Amino acid sequence: MRSKRKKRLAEKRARAGKCPTCGKPSEQGFRPFCSKRCRDVDLHRWLSGAYAIPVTEDTDEDGALPETGAPGLADDPDR
Ligand SMILES: [Zn+2]
Repeated sequence: MRSKRKKRLAEKRARAGKCPTCGKPSEQGFRPFCSKRCRDVDLHRWLSGAYAIPVTEDTDEDGALPETGAPGLADDPDR
């Protein structure tokens, strides 16, 4: 039996992919981007996107508090 397994890692690394920002082949050191600039651009996009997320506040300040009326808890008849 011959286990001749080719290491596909090298192959995978060869076709690393494209820069998500501009589409150019990604550069080693800036992967998956092609340059520091593109990385910064993407990062910026990310941050601005995070900031753009609307903050949904769930605090209903109507003064309508749910009454915790647990019958039989306040006065125990068994006592
Ligand atoms: Zn790029």
